[in-house]
Amino acid sequence: MKRVLVLALAATAFIASAQTYPGTKPISFVVPFAAGGPTDRVARDLAEAMRKTMGGSANFVVENVNGAGGTIGSTKVAKAAPDGHTLLLWHIGMASTPGLYRKLQYKPLEDFEYLGMINDVPMTLIGKPQLAANTYRDFENYIRTHSASLNIAHAGLGSASHLCGLMWQAAVNAKEPMTTIPFSGTAPAMTALIGGQVDIMCDQTTNTTQQIESGRVKAFAVTTPARLSSHKLLKDYPSLQEMGLKNFNLTIWHGLYAPKGTPAPILKQLNDALKLALKDPEFIKKQEGLGAVVVTDKRMEPAGHKAFVAAEIAKLKPAIEAAGKFAD
Ligand code: ASP
Repeated sequence: MKRVLVLALAATAFIASAQTYPGTKPISFVVPFAAGGPTDRVARDLAEAMRKTMGGSANFVVENVNGAGGTIGSTKVAKAAPDGHTLLLWHIGMASTPGLYRKLQYKPLEDFEYLGMINDVPMTLIGKPQLAANTYRDFENYIRTHSASLNIAHAGLGSASHLCGLMWQAAVNAKEPMTTIPFSGTAPAMTALIGGQVDIMCDQTTNTTQQIESGRVKAFAVTTPARLSSHKLLKDYPSLQEMGLKNFNLTIWHGLYAPKGTPAPILKQLNDALKLALKDPEFIKKQEGLGAVVVTDKRMEPAGHKAFVAAEIAKLKPAIEAAGKFAD
């Protein structure tokens, strides 16, 4: 009898909190990388768009919980209170970490409520300004002969930059793996690249476009199957497939997730706000300027995105295994 009463009270509290959600308590977007990088950038722009679509009264904060290639922040959200106030904004790492880590403290398909996908983002292979190559062909030849003495920056094991670096080294069949230099995100890695302390990086266009434009780094290629012919700057860089790396296709995506058990009315409110934000012309314009494409297909729905992530996990595991000697 007592238990029934406790359950009834808990249910009433949940309904009440769903009715008043979000209230004055902030909604935190946990970004599992350093501030100022590409994931952080998507989070801040999306927070602004969702604040508008939730009537302007919702209060969003971005929390950078970096480390271990994104797995520290994602673990934090998997274990957070399922009250709609702690959400994870992450990328392809959701699907690559199962292939890269022997043990994870969360299950990507079981421990989260999927709110939907945000965007697709190409990556660019870039180098420090002093690098002795100007075209992709020169760059590849240079890597083949110098890989043992070069280093490649990334945002930790399981990050998109790490995944790209290892898949690309495997595709060009570099004799020796380059030394990998992990950072807490590709914002600090970019600073090191511009300063010439590291040689190479592969990162999302949302972090690289402005640096390429200002000449602070050299760009060599994009990782999408075809070149980005409608982008005013990036259209000038070949795709890796165009340069002979058959089937090379790495497109990063971002999604939004809540801890498992978040009440359905709160999920619906968040999902509605997300879908409206993805139609916000200002958000779309900012994303397109940085080479990203806001999703409009069924992946923007929770079920469609979850099915996509499941397919990505299945696709990436063998690719990561094949690139084995370059994984560290
Ligand atoms: N671009 C990073 C990555 O390689 C993450 C970041 O700093 O946003 O995953």
